[in-house]
Amino acid sequence: MTKYIFVTGGVVSSVGKGITVASIGALLKSRGLSVYVQKIDPYLNVDPGMMSPYQHGEVFVTQDGAETDLDVGNYERFIDTELSAESDITSGQVYSAVIARERRGDFVGGTIQVIPHVTDEVKAGFKKLSTKPGADVILVEVGGTVGDIECQPYLEAIRQMRKDAGRDNVLYIHVTLLPYIGSTKELKTKPSQHSVNELRRLGIQPDIIVCRADYPISDSIRDKISLFCDVERQAVIPMTTVSSVYEVPLVLENEGMGDLVVNRLGLIGLTPDLSNWREIASYNRNDNLRVKVAVVGKYVELEDAYYSVRESLYHAGMKNNRKIEISWIQSEALVNENAVESALRYAQGIIIPGGFGPRGIEGMIKAARYARLNRIPYLGLSLGMQVMIIEFARFVLNSDEVNSTEFNSATPHPVIDLPADSNSTGGKDNTMRLGNYLCHLKPNTWAARVYGGNVSEITERHRNRYEFNNLYRQQLAEAGLVFSGLSPDGRLVEICELPDHPWMVGCQFHPEFISRPNRPHPLFTGLISIAKDVLREGSQPSLPLAS
Ligand code: GLN
Repeated sequence: MTKYIFVTGGVVSSVGKGITVASIGALLKSRGLSVYVQKIDPYLNVDPGMMSPYQHGEVFVTQDGAETDLDVGNYERFIDTELSAESDITSGQVYSAVIARERRGDFVGGTIQVIPHVTDEVKAGFKKLSTKPGADVILVEVGGTVGDIECQPYLEAIRQMRKDAGRDNVLYIHVTLLPYIGSTKELKTKPSQHSVNELRRLGIQPDIIVCRADYPISDSIRDKISLFCDVERQAVIPMTTVSSVYEVPLVLENEGMGDLVVNRLGLIGLTPDLSNWREIASYNRNDNLRVKVAVVGKYVELEDAYYSVRESLYHAGMKNNRKIEISWIQSEALVNENAVESALRYAQGIIIPGGFGPRGIEGMIKAARYARLNRIPYLGLSLGMQVMIIEFARFVLNSDEVNSTEFNSATPHPVIDLPADSNSTGGKDNTMRLGNYLCHLKPNTWAARVYGGNVSEITERHRNRYEFNNLYRQQLAEAGLVFSGLSPDGRLVEICELPDHPWMVGCQFHPEFISRPNRPHPLFTGLISIAKDVLREGSQPSLPLAS
């Protein structure tokens, strides 16, 4: 019998509900249970694919090519399970499905209503996951905050699930914030009481309340929440802010969350094996050796736009026993060499992440040139590989007109272009290469070395419309660019590198989507392993760690 856990949020958003859900998933997995996770995004967009990263943060791509919420990335990183399109439900998808059925006449003349038609469609989404092989637990995060108008159909659907799946098979967890009042130096429980009241008004009594706070939560606060919200004291779980999200599974385990969930749902779990998480947490304690990495992009004002890139850098830092210090550089500001020099003079490594559209491209090309000429380790991710190639080809062809047709459709040297068989018009159409693709590695290259000597074929996730233009392959190869990863038919360039440089590598895919804290991605680990020994202004020579 599949069990369901529904997680709602109270008081304000951004209290770490996604990380809590991911961590609960990790605790269940550590007990040998198989967990599938789903995020509900109550907005009306069908998916975040076309939303601005400023609005939404990163678009996380699953192996089957779904463009999903960045929380899905956290679920994958914490639970170490590959998820799929079903793991993100939006109101856009739910309503489109209901309306399509109405047009087909499936409702034979009935009036279509939020209850039961929309709620049934939502519940069908939960139940679909329960058919996955060995699904012990379905963990569902309801996006937004209790009280949002657009959340209502979902709260009603999860309320109904207690009847549909059976009372003992459903658990409700509410994640809330205890604000701190500086003048009286105390945490306040009233907003949480209100949000629990609102949930109860809708017919949902939470079984567990997770309290997020920036200060320690006293026993008396726990007692108060227990009394007012009608939840046993051990089911009021304090979650004080920690320095790294990867400590949250251990924090929750220490507060008894794992056993509480397993017992309440009548699950038989193994003794938890959290050695992985202990190891990860111990890496985090070493912060005396640092590596400075500049991420040069156009959405840098919102770090969430590059969420997986940031996490992958941290993973690679842990592996290399270094704390990563990221400086976020707005590529539009890199207007001349002085601006580039002052923005990048401390950088021991440079990353150009993914992106779309012409804004800020010239600044990225300048950053890539700076990395090449100053021999600073460089990793280009999708757009970052395209930028690396444009920069190198401008030098080889001695022309500043070299470009991608995405940024200048009239360029005389389109080194990056839509592939010949693409029927894209270059706009926001459905012609992206999305999800997993195979790549063959060329022996004796950086790429082949970091993926581990005998690996010749890898699988990586894509989200791109444009590709390297093969008309330039021979000329750029003769000038020294090595095409170290190709699609199995040899037509698409997936990785390129400059051997005459300490580490200048670009990949057409997004390695950041598959990096895990316990299994950092080799391209990020490779970058940091070289960057950590690069001496820049103000950087310390890296000394061996005291054991
Ligand atoms: N805009 C580029 C393309 O469509 C790069 C995409 C990306 O960085 N994900 O190919």
